[in-house]
Amino acid sequence: MASRMPAARLQGRIINADEYEKDTHGAAQCLDCGCAVLGVRSYPRTVGDHEIVVRAYFRLPTDAQKDGKGHEPGCRFNIGSAVSVLVARSAEVKTFSSEAEPLLSALLGKQTELRLHILTEIVQPRPSGYSEDGFDKEIQPSGLGRRYITSQRLLSAYLRAAESLLSLVGWVQNRRDLGEWIVLRHGSHHVRWNRFFFDLEDYRQLYDQLAALEADQKAAHPVAIVIELGNQSLGKMTKYGSWPLRGRNPTLKSEELAICPTVFVRDEKLAHEMLKERLVLVCAVPKLGRRRDAPKPWLKPEVELQLTVNHSAQFCGFTPT
Ligand SMILES: [Zn+2]
Repeated sequence: MASRMPAARLQGRIINADEYEKDTHGAAQCLDCGCAVLGVRSYPRTVGDHEIVVRAYFRLPTDAQKDGKGHEPGCRFNIGSAVSVLVARSAEVKTFSSEAEPLLSALLGKQTELRLHILTEIVQPRPSGYSEDGFDKEIQPSGLGRRYITSQRLLSAYLRAAESLLSLVGWVQNRRDLGEWIVLRHGSHHVRWNRFFFDLEDYRQLYDQLAALEADQKAAHPVAIVIELGNQSLGKMTKYGSWPLRGRNPTLKSEELAICPTVFVRDEKLAHEMLKERLVLVCAVPKLGRRRDAPKPWLKPEVELQLTVNHSAQFCGFTPT
């Protein structure tokens, strides 16, 4: 259970993953605890009909953690210790209100529970009920949320916890590993990681999930979704007061519907901040826009996957694997 590392230690110096050559530099060690790590070179990955570049990184040898040759318990690249740090940070809300419920809490054994109903409240667009296309059916959030955040100080404490959680999800070597450490809860239900984390290839699954919820008139929970922003300049503010950033639609040629992710950022500075990243991991409550006919006969019908970002805690840069 470990994370990807952008740099490592050589005899007496630090080396970035993209400069590392095994034959020239020899064995590399973890920056923090000194365990042996391997360099992985940059390589292209095919997403839909185009390629993205996976940047070089360091990782643990296979099974190293299991064989006792992995990161030390206190190392920041050890997921177990990173998760305990998150649990401790999350408990900070208790200092502002004894009744506050932490976003993450330790369960018995090694697992931790992430409460998505609290996350819903943190990432909820404010004021409530606004919609980018003026087509808000206003699905009621089924009695969840709207009771955890009672003050600005409490909100800030929650946001700090949400921010660290998102960066952890962003840098873990194998996201399936996270499921062993963090269980997701939404109200009384447990949610699987593949219904929370959506990579570039998974938009169709997210679309199906949202369409089914809409049909049942149920509210969506927050998700973490990878979006390729590429190079784009900031357009005009929408009449609803946000700056739209269009993500690349990685739909395969064989699919009959184009799913176009759009991030509506409620603050211009924040939008510029986000555009510094080519790939972002965004945490938001997703919403489907209206289905539109194909703009040209040779194109497909489209549907917009809408995400609203109010705060910098809702996104981080993402390094694909
Ligand atoms: Zn380490």
